[in-house]
Amino acid sequence: MTRPVVSNTVVSDAGVRETTVLRRRAGAGIICAPLRVEAEALRRGLRGHAGTDAVDVIRTGYGTTRSATAAAKIAESDAPMMAVGGVAGGLTDDLNVGDVVVATQVSESGAGDGQVVCCPSAPLLAGELRRAGLTVRLGPMATVSKLADSSAHADLAAAGVIAVDMESAQLLGGAAGRPAVVVRAISDTPAHPLVSPHTVTGGLAALRSLRLAAPALARWAAAVGPRQVLLASPRSFCAGVERAIEIVELTLGRHGPPVYVRKQIVHNTAVVARLEQLGAIFVDELTEVPDGATVVFSAHGVAPEVRNEATRRGLGTVDATCPLVAKVHAEARRFAGDGYLVALIGHGGHEEVEGTLGEAPGSTALVESMDDVDRLAPRDPSKVAYLMQTTLAADEASGMVDAILDRFPEAKGPGSDDICYATTNRQRAVRAIAAESDLVLVVGSANSSNSLRLVETAERAGTRAYLVDSAQDIELGWLAGVSTVGLAAGASAPPAMVSEIMTALSGLGPIQSKEVVVATESVQFGLPRELRQ
Ligand code: SF4
Repeated sequence: MTRPVVSNTVVSDAGVRETTVLRRRAGAGIICAPLRVEAEALRRGLRGHAGTDAVDVIRTGYGTTRSATAAAKIAESDAPMMAVGGVAGGLTDDLNVGDVVVATQVSESGAGDGQVVCCPSAPLLAGELRRAGLTVRLGPMATVSKLADSSAHADLAAAGVIAVDMESAQLLGGAAGRPAVVVRAISDTPAHPLVSPHTVTGGLAALRSLRLAAPALARWAAAVGPRQVLLASPRSFCAGVERAIEIVELTLGRHGPPVYVRKQIVHNTAVVARLEQLGAIFVDELTEVPDGATVVFSAHGVAPEVRNEATRRGLGTVDATCPLVAKVHAEARRFAGDGYLVALIGHGGHEEVEGTLGEAPGSTALVESMDDVDRLAPRDPSKVAYLMQTTLAADEASGMVDAILDRFPEAKGPGSDDICYATTNRQRAVRAIAAESDLVLVVGSANSSNSLRLVETAERAGTRAYLVDSAQDIELGWLAGVSTVGLAAGASAPPAMVSEIMTALSGLGPIQSKEVVVATESVQFGLPRELRQ
């Protein structure tokens, strides 16, 4: 059904009464485009794409006055969400014409001045636009009453605003609490000002980007809706990861930057990036560490030959190996010393596995599959032992153990479980939420073993699951039609990332969150000797 819902009448500066009748379908979302060329670009972009039935592009008119009038009408409409799409002026040197800005917030006339409207789902849309091949910046925008005012723009840029337009703040008033986003393609920048020989090319580049952005706006609209979020508990940092991060911070405080860290201290890109900002330098091998420097060994542990090399070179060392990984190393040494063949169940190439293999290289065999179990060739079949990587999926590892015991009934296992408490608890928690969720999101980096195991655990429970490093990794298509999202986080994923994702999801509609607690954790590890002195 099509009906006029927005009749936008304003008196122009020249005293001319102008009326724009904006037609849209009942129940459809609204994409506001101030100018005719912007509306055209968006409509062309939507043409032929799935899900575009859910949104109508309406032209709302140029400038703050027309925008405020349109917003009042939109506020009365039945649209479940609204977006603003158009072109804008970039304020920072790193923006180029054709780049796309997704507003985290829009202020009415400058930072700290006038009304500020936040757009919490902006990271979700920004990720979707990046995947569409666009160059995207997330950040605050401002709506101004005059465009080519360079001194006002400089003040806004100094306050952190990255782009300006003349309508978004007023138009967002029409959202009236409903989900809203603003996408603006950059038509001019400080290097290519609005009135310059680049005006036409800048405008065309911006309109092209706007057209390419349109399908992502439709996917954003399709993902809007109320939903429940089941939070797996425990989630995020374990005691070993907290300790490792603290060790790098304390070492930086004690020795001053730079402090070298062999391998990623924990497998998380956000953690590594933050420590790099504080002065940590991450290297793959000790050959990259200059003589006389201090190096921290990561939470995953190192082989004895690495320690020996550091000693040989006279490097200062601080050991952040998790005590639970160190326990597996000690078990490997003990079994090998007693003449056992150690079957190490784990994933080849993982730093923890390399470190454990290095404890007794001549007496340890890596077991990644049932075929590896078949290939085990101990000198004495009564002297086989098995150990595990601490972050394995418990159900998968127990299958390997059964196979080893089938072949070698006398095989000995570790004194206590090698799969650590944090891994076990997070897997139990993800299993609990997966049972009640349409979709499970696991926060963690792609090289995080325990996070990957959480995804597999949810999938084995029959629920779609994805690993995401941040809100920007969440594909909007995953959320369409999903009413219950399970949210878990690996032991190396910062709790702040979980909060960021909750905030982003809340920008798609009302959220009801529920903690699903399967265990409470109180484990703490002391600092290494080097930092206690
Ligand atoms: S996951 Fe387990 S073994 Fe790994 S750092 Fe955390 S507590 Fe230690």
